[in-house]
Amino acid sequence: MVSLLVQASKSKLDEILLGTKSDIELQSVANYIENGWPESKSVVLHAQHYWHCQTELHIKNGLICRGQRFVIPKSCRKDVLQRLHIGHRGIVSCINLARQSLYWPGMNTEIENMVSHCDICQQNQKSNCKELRKLAERPWQKVAIDFFHLSSVTYLLIVDYFLNILSSNIYIIQRPLQIIEFCTNRDIFFNPSSSGFPRSNGQDERCVQTVKSTLVKAAQDKNDAHLVLMEYRNTHMDGLPSPAEILMGRRIRALIPTLPSQFDPHYDCSVVQERLHFRQQRQHKYDLHSRPLKPLQENQEVVFHLNNQ
Ligand SMILES: [Zn+2]
Repeated sequence: MVSLLVQASKSKLDEILLGTKSDIELQSVANYIENGWPESKSVVLHAQHYWHCQTELHIKNGLICRGQRFVIPKSCRKDVLQRLHIGHRGIVSCINLARQSLYWPGMNTEIENMVSHCDICQQNQKSNCKELRKLAERPWQKVAIDFFHLSSVTYLLIVDYFLNILSSNIYIIQRPLQIIEFCTNRDIFFNPSSSGFPRSNGQDERCVQTVKSTLVKAAQDKNDAHLVLMEYRNTHMDGLPSPAEILMGRRIRALIPTLPSQFDPHYDCSVVQERLHFRQQRQHKYDLHSRPLKPLQENQEVVFHLNNQ
């Protein structure tokens, strides 16, 4: 399936646009953006919460943006908050995810309230074991794998040590021994940890806990676990780009409404576009000279190419 998933879905943008138009506060902000802000904050009636960031505010296709972030109208905030918390992550993580693409006054406090009052999060609260971090120099240089069982299904978990514990992936597997064969065939050094002392691999153990708990919460909330993990991988952490961004050189599109320009790759796209343009031209020339073949008759002799001979 090929989809042009390059921006927040049309209906979501329409919803934000509609919400913006019926939001008294944002209409006042839009008015100041277009006609200039007054000298004093006290005369700005409905837009006082936006006074401090007035130089960053602009309008793009009818939507108000603060820098690269959408300003979300009141009517859409509940839905956006739910999207932010789809993986039932903690407060800091949800705020980090929100700050990448969204803004509204008091956003952090609302996120904090939502997470601290979430029933599913409270039911699944746990204390973390000590984490033992090992350094890697590049993505996919050192990965840890582990199996875990949940609801009679065996999962394989892969944790990349460079990207982050949360860049992990989950696979349902049939035969654990496949892993040893896989590593041997690809010249991958395999270093099993002692089954009697599984915590010798602290990072992996912690990740199993996180993913397990994510799967349980996703099931309780009837959410797609893969979608939830995708949001994990798409979240900035400790001031670094998200794991997906480090690996792929660009942000990935997930559930949170995001300005399309934020998906631009970190490399020079013009070279790729030139190449695509060249191919397109060549294909066009070829199509001009191509003709439909005559239908074959019964017993007619035919010659065909075999391995380019
Ligand atoms: Zn929660």
